Amino acid sequence: MASKLTDSQLTSIYGRRITNAVSLFEPYELGYRCPRGHRGVCITWSEFKDHIWCYRCKLDYLSGICPIQRPSWQSVKDFKSSLSKLPFKTRIIRGVDWGLEEIEKEVDNS
Ligand SMILES: [Zn+2]
Repeated sequence: MASKLTDSQLTSIYGRRITNAVSLFEPYELGYRCPRGHRGVCITWSEFKDHIWCYRCKLDYLSGICPIQRPSWQSVKDFKSSLSKLPFKTRIIRGVDWGLEEIEKEVDNS
């Protein structure tokens, strides 16, 4: 499941992301989680294109193998629209991901 490739192999196959670019959304804001279920701030965009990095697993995962659940801020229509733009078919988890609200609550309480 996880990438068994070395960093240099990942670089030559997928390429590296532009390092000074700011992504519009973090993967958890789009409802992604790692194949082992880690989500929220546990995951971020990998330094390699088309990959998600999981801090818990300490692995790069191809984003196409990472399941997605509709984030609570997105309407069903917008979620379906964004899924249709993905270059791959991924596993969709039923229901709504409230993870973003949970993170905001943690920030408010600290
Ligand atoms: Zn993980």
